[in-house]
Amino acid sequence: MIYREAPLFNALRNSSMLKGKCGACEFREICGGSRARTYAMTGDPLGQEMCCTYQPAGYSRETSESDWAMIGENG
Ligand code: SF4
Repeated sequence: MIYREAPLFNALRNSSMLKGKCGACEFREICGGSRARTYAMTGDPLGQEMCCTYQPAGYSRETSESDWAMIGENG
């Protein structure tokens, strides 16, 4: 019941809800990154996976580097 209906669990199963480079990544359906690690590092379970070195096409390194700043704010 909780697993199927809780808004957070529904969001975690919906790859279109992912943010940052995970949201822009062509592999988000088969990968999606570690949601637990992202939550631990950023405070946002739908944020981008900060330990992934892959750079999706169309997602700039400058944007990615600015995302690291939020770790200092939330971590
Ligand atoms: S963790 Fe890396 S490979 Fe996986 S969806 Fe995110 S950016 Fe893409």
